[in-house]
Amino acid sequence: MISFSEARSRILEQVNPISQMENIPVQKAAGRILAKSVVAAHAVPNHDNSGMDGYAVRFADLAKEIPTTLRVTADLPAGSRLERTVGPGEAIRIMTGAPIPDGCDCVVMQEVVTRQGAEVTIPPGQKIKQNVRPAGEDMQEGQEVMHPGRRLSPADVGLLTTLGFNEIIVYRRIKVGVLSTGNEVVEPPTPLLPGQVYDSNRMALLAALQSMGVETLNMGLVGDDRNAIAGALRRGAQECDAILTSGGVSVGDFDLVKEVLQDIGSIHFWKVAMKPGKPQAYGQLGQATFFGLPGNPVSSLAVFLLMVRPALFRLMGAEPQPEKRLMLPFRGTHHKKHDRMDFLRGVVYFQPEGAWVTLSGGQGSGILSGMANANALIALPESPLSIADGDLVPVWLIDYA
Ligand code: AMP
Ligand code: MG
Repeated sequence: MISFSEARSRILEQVNPISQMENIPVQKAAGRILAKSVVAAHAVPNHDNSGMDGYAVRFADLAKEIPTTLRVTADLPAGSRLERTVGPGEAIRIMTGAPIPDGCDCVVMQEVVTRQGAEVTIPPGQKIKQNVRPAGEDMQEGQEVMHPGRRLSPADVGLLTTLGFNEIIVYRRIKVGVLSTGNEVVEPPTPLLPGQVYDSNRMALLAALQSMGVETLNMGLVGDDRNAIAGALRRGAQECDAILTSGGVSVGDFDLVKEVLQDIGSIHFWKVAMKPGKPQAYGQLGQATFFGLPGNPVSSLAVFLLMVRPALFRLMGAEPQPEKRLMLPFRGTHHKKHDRMDFLRGVVYFQPEGAWVTLSGGQGSGILSGMANANALIALPESPLSIADGDLVPVWLIDYA
């Protein structure tokens, strides 16, 4: 048996990031992986501008203790600028975002002034530079704003547009296929015979892949048959960057996936000291990275989240996407008797007075409702232990996106 962290780093090591890039519209870039550094070609904002609707003035004109009356000599909506330098005794009506006129160094918000015809009276107590948003306060010209490997967010799409990009270079999308195995596995709406189960793994894994922005190939379902498994895997490997299978990697008589992989590719079979998800298989099939997940529905999703997802991010060219981890008080009690790392399915309640975590339901590796109701995994260390009500436990939030 190898430890969870050892297995995780070995899997990451076996994955080579893709290198092909493509140019796409910025509008479609959310969720994609940036392939080239982004450098600001100009400062943002590109000029000092007003942070308020009000009056741009020369701070030196304002009396310290008494109100000051100035002549309003121009009106500056956003988008227009004054072509001359403002002189003593002048005030310029200015709107949010308009460039600060030369000569002015202070904006007084309109709510505090008294306007009478062409004159405006400004109370004492103003400060130099107030309500002036300086050029470059967001980004400076020449600054490296984003590094390659960044998974672009909607805010990044805004930022790229602010910098004047309408296209951007990202890594191409990867394609991942999912194949289910098992003589007892059938597809809805075929009625279930005794002992049969529906192929929930393939649908859940395809959905999880789509959530993280991966292109998917539904490779279907095959029985526990060497030729059928080999044929499906060979076909999938021709068009996929990675292949996921569910089932057939345990030590039972019908666990053929690893034998087939030995014949047509290369494979490492591991017993990983984790629960759920002890049996796992990793390898290579042509140009595709192979991930053999256990068949139990909770195990296959847990191994996907903990092992496959980080490896796929690496394959996609993304920088590591660390889990969101925190320590939270546990409600309930739990006795951990084995010496594998335990990933209990939990619900974190986020309350204004603080967060806490409890079990989401049954903890068997076949109990999918417990996984479906969970928003976190409670990550207990390898040694046996008991946790009591109120104990702090390590929590890893579940993130499919
Ligand atoms: P295996 O890893 O093939 O020994 O399967 C372990 C358990 O997971 C068995 O109870 C299977 O019936 C179940 N199982 C295998 N594949 C699937 C699947 N695609 N969807 C749901 N359950 C499955
Ligand atoms: Mg099976």
